[in-house]
Amino acid sequence: MTEPVLKIDDLVMHYGQVRAVDGLSLEIGKGEVLGLVGESGSGKSTVGKCVLRLIEPTSGRISLSGTDITHLSRRSMRPLRRDVHMVFQDPFSSLNPRFTIEQIVGEPLIHHKAVARREVSRRVAQMLEQVGLRPEMATRFPHELSGGQRQRVGLARALILNPKLVVADEPVSALDVSVQASVLNLITDLQRELGFSCLFITHDLSVVEFLADRIAVMYLGRIVESGPTARLFAEPRHPYTQALLSAAPVADPARQRERRRIVLGGDVPSPVDPPSGCRFHTRCPLAFDECRTREPELADPRTGGHPAACHLVTADRLPDAAAAS
Ligand code: SF4
Repeated sequence: MTEPVLKIDDLVMHYGQVRAVDGLSLEIGKGEVLGLVGESGSGKSTVGKCVLRLIEPTSGRISLSGTDITHLSRRSMRPLRRDVHMVFQDPFSSLNPRFTIEQIVGEPLIHHKAVARREVSRRVAQMLEQVGLRPEMATRFPHELSGGQRQRVGLARALILNPKLVVADEPVSALDVSVQASVLNLITDLQRELGFSCLFITHDLSVVEFLADRIAVMYLGRIVESGPTARLFAEPRHPYTQALLSAAPVADPARQRERRRIVLGGDVPSPVDPPSGCRFHTRCPLAFDECRTREPELADPRTGGHPAACHLVTADRLPDAAAAS
């Protein structure tokens, strides 16, 4: 089997008392897109920051193409920074307002001495075209562009070194609904064309339905369900995934009418003091006594299928949160 591009083992990230990520493992293969989905406060963005080494994890191990990067120094990390890039949520604040688009997009080429100086303009123009922008835009400044155009610039900058892995943290949620679809389609096309692996972080399951090969759903610092996208959409097992899916918009009006919305009680509990047993038990419409005391493992049901961290799933029962809520 080929080495995964990204491998995370038992990642823990505590900010003081806040247990943002609490034992998370995942892998992303070459050219694969993993959608990491969860509400705000689930810890999903913290995972992205640890992968980019923007923060130092409390414990656990992160490897890029087989190299353990968890505790690499800045200097040792430098050559590896070519291989992993980030697309941010807010395209405006992530672009330096004093730089032209050419300077912004071309900066990684210069920083990593990837091409000769005289080649930078040509390569930037090429990249701008690849993300659907006119090469003349190279001389403009970020404030002269629309939100969608700025996110295209963010993509151009992230992709100009042809990275192995792109971490995209809510890349369309700050955009107008009317431009979200076109930017999502662009990311899908570029991913297929260039073949990079992608950790796509989002609170919105419907955003990753057509983009991600696999989905991992996070709740309070842990993965509660993961599986191939089509399977997870067709048969969500964890009651939390069922609730998220019941709230996601569906294009087909007949399917939308059939769907029963699962309304979860209460707010996401504080990660300072997560509930005992199953962390979801305070909001789960199917919770029973054991859920309050014993933590379920993220395990496959005995009869096969994809893993979910729920006692009902490990006992080979398919939870039906809609019927209980
Ligand atoms: Fe709900 Fe219990 Fe399953 Fe947790 S283990 S998701 S509380 S039924």
